[in-house]
Amino acid sequence: MRRVLILGGTAEARALAAELSGGGVHVVSSLAGRVSNPRLPVGEVRKGGFGGADGLAAWLAAERIDALVDATHPFAARMTASATEAAARTGVPLLVLRRPGWREGPGDTWRRVPSLHAAAAQLGDPVRVFLTTGRRSLPVFTGLAGVWLLARSVDPPEPPVPDNVHVLLDRGPYTVEGERALIREHRLDVLVTKDSGGPMTTAKLVAARELGLPVIMVDRPPLPTGVRLVETAAEAAAWAQG
Ligand code: NAP
Repeated sequence: MRRVLILGGTAEARALAAELSGGGVHVVSSLAGRVSNPRLPVGEVRKGGFGGADGLAAWLAAERIDALVDATHPFAARMTASATEAAARTGVPLLVLRRPGWREGPGDTWRRVPSLHAAAAQLGDPVRVFLTTGRRSLPVFTGLAGVWLLARSVDPPEPPVPDNVHVLLDRGPYTVEGERALIREHRLDVLVTKDSGGPMTTAKLVAARELGLPVIMVDRPPLPTGVRLVETAAEAAAWAQG
């Protein structure tokens, strides 16, 4: 039976595993193992890093993998680099599945920046920030003069959490009403987000537009050159079936 490895941790990866299950393909989904209570895909799941491109290449050979789909989050650049290198080295075909990024529309006030540090450099003083870039990015934004943060993440950030940070533990999907209420309740001035794309977390962008809140949008890291790219689980499933 054809053996496919999906590098996951996203809704698209779970959708792909579901599409392929029962279709004459043996699917293994891989998770980094960082989130304490992850949403799991159907079928076989393994957890934890492979040990860089070398480790992944060895794993692909040992498990006799026929096709590799990188369906990780658009900001999981190290995993994508490893996948590209391991695929080139082993000859296992690689497909990257990435949901499209978000686009600015009428009524939006977005500023695109190339990195988290560039986002932090844009913040005024004083300012109340809605920060949704993930718990591991928090240190980039703490310690800035005059900045108060509502930091929303799935799991708690590493302690100690400074006094100017209010942590909100939550996981999407979110509603526009809920996001609007948060922005009003905490008197937020600006939203800082990564360009993750996808429907699960767009409500904050709609609420920001409605309330006239500016958005600092961190651009995605570039993909390695020459990778084969699709945007939907259905396209990836057709490719993975061979
Ligand atoms: P990253 O910086 O690219 O990855 C760091 C290391 O974690 C990789 O080198 C790899 O370790 C391991 N890893 C990452 N994804 C893995 C996977 N699917 N299976 C096995 N090992 C994996 O990635 P990250 O930003 O820490 O994201 C980690 C995971 O969370 C990803 O699977 C991603 O899809 C998911 N996620 C990330 C974000 C985000 O904003 N970055 C948001 C939602 C979900 P080795 O080098 O040892 O193989």
